[in-house]
Amino acid sequence: MSTDSEDDRYIVWFDIDNTLYSTSADVSRAMGKRIHAYFLTLGLDDKEASELHLRYYTQYGLALAGLVRHHAVDPLDFDEKCDGSLPLEEMIEPDPFLRKLFEDIDRSKARVWALTNAYRPHAERVLRILNLHDQIEGLVFCDYAEKDLISKPEPEYYHKALRQANVSDPSKCFFVDDNRRNVDAARALGWKNCVHFCEHGLNHVEGGKVQQITSSTNGGADNGVVVISDLKELRTVWADIFTS
Ligand SMILES: [Mg+2]
Repeated sequence: MSTDSEDDRYIVWFDIDNTLYSTSADVSRAMGKRIHAYFLTLGLDDKEASELHLRYYTQYGLALAGLVRHHAVDPLDFDEKCDGSLPLEEMIEPDPFLRKLFEDIDRSKARVWALTNAYRPHAERVLRILNLHDQIEGLVFCDYAEKDLISKPEPEYYHKALRQANVSDPSKCFFVDDNRRNVDAARALGWKNCVHFCEHGLNHVEGGKVQQITSSTNGGADNGVVVISDLKELRTVWADIFTS
């Protein structure tokens, strides 16, 4: 979906999982369970599976990246058994207020893309269930069909995103993600308008571990990153790109 000549507009990047729907939908827990079960199929015991799951997630930003590098796992098999088996239709639903938020982004000023560590089928499925599919002009996903998996927060992933969207100036970027590491990585590369979507106090599962969500900054701005707990706040934080 990239264009030949550079688009002068800003570009807004939305993470998908646990950003476009609340962590309270418990998708991260369901996904964590499936990934744990996948580690067990490699012959690991429960404790080893938990340790490796957390280690790979911490090291690579994506447990699957470790599985591919160190266990020769087929990412497409992983995708089918983990993301693909999630009963998402029963877990998440469209939010009219969120759709309106997307509709109110002034498209003469900004393009709207999604930027996810999931593979394309999961990303598109979530966007369809949330009734946001038609609001997203481009999708950058972790390509499970490639030999080397590149994912957030690796700098190369963000470079790839800019290439794909044909953006040469990172200061044109607006970005929101529920993972602080992903946001900080973008910020470090000069992505100008970075927002950490942080549902303080809720529990989520990262790297197979249940953790309470906290902000490293206790709200407000830090290192140019703004922390919000409701996507509606984007209307204020990014007031320039909204029509109303
Ligand atoms: Mg996320």
